[in-house]
Amino acid sequence: MIVILKPDVRRDSPQIQQVLDLASRYPGVTARVHVVEGSTRSLMEIYLIGSTAAVPTEPFQDLDVVERVVRVSEKYRIIGRHKGQIESEGFQYQGVTFDQDTLHVAAGLCAVDTREHVDQMFAALQAAGIPTSRMGAYKPRTSPYDFQGLGKACLPWVFESAGKHDIKVVAMEITHESHIDEINAALDEAGSPTGVMLQIGTRNAQNFELLKFVGRQQRFPVLFKRGMGITLEESLNACEYVASEGNSRIILCLRGMKTNLGDPHRNFVDFAHVPVVKRLTRLPVCVDPSHSVGSRALSPDGLTDIHHATAAGVIAGANLVLVDFHPEPTTALCDGPQALTLDELGPYLDDIAIVREAYEKRRELARKSAEAARSAGA
Ligand code: PEP
Ligand code: MN
Repeated sequence: MIVILKPDVRRDSPQIQQVLDLASRYPGVTARVHVVEGSTRSLMEIYLIGSTAAVPTEPFQDLDVVERVVRVSEKYRIIGRHKGQIESEGFQYQGVTFDQDTLHVAAGLCAVDTREHVDQMFAALQAAGIPTSRMGAYKPRTSPYDFQGLGKACLPWVFESAGKHDIKVVAMEITHESHIDEINAALDEAGSPTGVMLQIGTRNAQNFELLKFVGRQQRFPVLFKRGMGITLEESLNACEYVASEGNSRIILCLRGMKTNLGDPHRNFVDFAHVPVVKRLTRLPVCVDPSHSVGSRALSPDGLTDIHHATAAGVIAGANLVLVDFHPEPTTALCDGPQALTLDELGPYLDDIAIVREAYEKRRELARKSAEAARSAGA
């Protein structure tokens, strides 16, 4: 059950205690206060967790401080968009707002290799005015004999270079909880010149212990990648593990599904699920065209399949594009064949801007026709 408080209620308001006191009267029920950073306003919500089936809504509804009470299904209680919840869940991190209305591009190396490449990548992003990037230090590879990433050794110079180039957020995959300690220590040591978004890769989408661990820490937001061989519902339930432990600063990333039916793409592009995830949850939605498509193949219209997959995600309302770039793809130690080059960054961003504008026009058209239909019916 979710008790939604009136919009003007502050976190330190004594009225919140009234709700908590009332909740404590019901055995087996625990209450957790949750702040929803919506695009237009912040809301306080109190989650009642446990045996809430027998808890009546009226006593909560009768409190002055309460706007409304929502009964939620058993599934993804925190990340889910339940009946009556209009606000999308969003958050600010490092001065960057991530929600279901914004769009950012996190471009960068699949795997960190040399300082020069990292520097060149960040410099190109800075020149383009982009504060969000990706850099893989811990790589989950299919074969144990493949390059496994530079690990903690590269963190000091990756973070220093990010800070130097005004990069605010670096998405970085972790495959073990100890990696969070290493990132924490390296950031502290460097004086926090940038921020990190902890990426949970598709292979760990159901590593529940890791998910609980990233959910228990509050310092970093989480980029959760959909499992490549499980249903969307299973992925959303897995993602809920992060939120259920207390961290709901989450972006859900679509990255294609594993099946030969998607050949010749590396994965079957699943970006038609962008609006589905927005409807089922209040999380911002990311698309990863690089790991979906897996190559720089060019179609006869002069655009790569990566450009087309990106456009498919953006026209459907994606809020983040996670994309592989590399200054010298032929020397990349991981996923070089799918990396775009730095020369392509500017035109790629221009292409995204065209598509985003089209999406905004579509949204406006839908809003106007819904309004017209309402006033015709009134
Ligand atoms: C990645 O983004 O570097 C990656 C390994 O992606 P995925 O987990 O989607 O395969
Ligand atoms: Mn990769």
